Amino acid sequence: MAVTLDLSDPKTRPSGPAGMAEKPVLVGLTRPQMQQALAEAGIPEKQARMRASQIWHWLYIRGVSDFSAMTNIGKELRATLAEKFSIARPEIVEEQISGDGTRKWLLRFPPRGAGRPVEVETVYIPEEGRGTLCISSQVGCTLTCSFCHTGTQKLVRNLTAEEILSQLLVARDRLGDFPDADTPQGAIVPLEGRKVSNIVMMGMGEPLYNFEHVKNALLIASDGDGLALSKRRITLSTSGVVPYIGRTGEEIGCMLAISLHAVRDELRDELVPINKKYPLDMLLDACRAYPGLSNAKRITFEYVMLKGVNDSLGDAKELIRLLKGIPAKINLIPFNPWPGSAYECSDWDTIERFADFINANGYASPIRTPRGRDILAACGQLKSESERLRKKEREKLESLALEAMMIAGHGE
Ligand code: SAH
Ligand code: SF4
Repeated sequence: MAVTLDLSDPKTRPSGPAGMAEKPVLVGLTRPQMQQALAEAGIPEKQARMRASQIWHWLYIRGVSDFSAMTNIGKELRATLAEKFSIARPEIVEEQISGDGTRKWLLRFPPRGAGRPVEVETVYIPEEGRGTLCISSQVGCTLTCSFCHTGTQKLVRNLTAEEILSQLLVARDRLGDFPDADTPQGAIVPLEGRKVSNIVMMGMGEPLYNFEHVKNALLIASDGDGLALSKRRITLSTSGVVPYIGRTGEEIGCMLAISLHAVRDELRDELVPINKKYPLDMLLDACRAYPGLSNAKRITFEYVMLKGVNDSLGDAKELIRLLKGIPAKINLIPFNPWPGSAYECSDWDTIERFADFINANGYASPIRTPRGRDILAACGQLKSESERLRKKEREKLESLALEAMMIAGHGE
């Protein structure tokens, strides 16, 4: 049974106030940016570096969201910091817990400048031996992949580095990955004991259309003196924004996933329209050149299984031919339906046959078990309440999701 907690009541809300901050935010700034912000706020330049590293420790090792907890910083300075800056968490509007343990949070960020508040979904997927957080990079998406629900929501705006990173901070708060306030200073929750061991940029939006903010957030998430997630455990998924693929490897150094979904330009133009701009040969060349590829560091190719559209053995054969020479694994994703979607998920036998063929040709090809479908947390089902679903639409979606769970159940 799925459980929904309404956390919008201030008495039960576990983190920062809804009206957080029109003040400049320190979360999500690089170290030099933070030093500069402190210097501009009147902290002597000589001290700014040391203060920035103290604040960094509190924010990312201890997980605090209130300056008053920063006990190695003098009271007066703490008060000045609180007056000038914000480090508050976004409001958790809703927390849903699926029958399979998947959690989905709806987070509300305050307006930026003249804008309106935005709402973003983040999903946590616990698995044997690891826990993956699926993070959003934009509210909505400018691209219009024909099988993706997010693609039907117009882009509201790019998320800032703070908003991207805050998704991880909120998840760690809620899952107990930060030490309690009364744990002795310096004590941390050991890496092996943490609930969030991996992150994937596979929520709402196209991360490579928001490169700078995504980069800053991921570099902070992987900073060894802070959140310390290994870059091997961070995967960025793109629909194929070719000019930024090389930069992702060079400047972020994380793992790469490509939303391939079709092996011929004609079909990919339809499913993933960015293909018209960056067709398959360009995309695969960029993949071949991705820095640091080896058998231990492979590119994941995501392939959504659409009945009668891209799921024939001929497609599987062509897939093998296309990927020749690229250290790759192929992730088959059963299609998750949504109201008005023009596709159906391939039959389970077809998916297995497709997977077997790819396996026999030497590629790992896990079938991604749909998770959290009962709370609409599965791939491509995220669509924030910034564009609220009408009740009827939601009910229809829930019944479609149930139906799909029953189909997928054959493989679990
Ligand atoms: N915009 C990025 C990352 C977000 S989408 C991208 O496209 O790669 C994360 C993955 O979910 C992508 O591979 C996407 O193609 C897939 N996806 C989208 N809608 C889906 C659906 N309805 N069913 C299954 N997978 C879907
Ligand atoms: Fe955007 Fe990715 Fe959905 Fe395509 S699949 S519409 S790029 S979120």
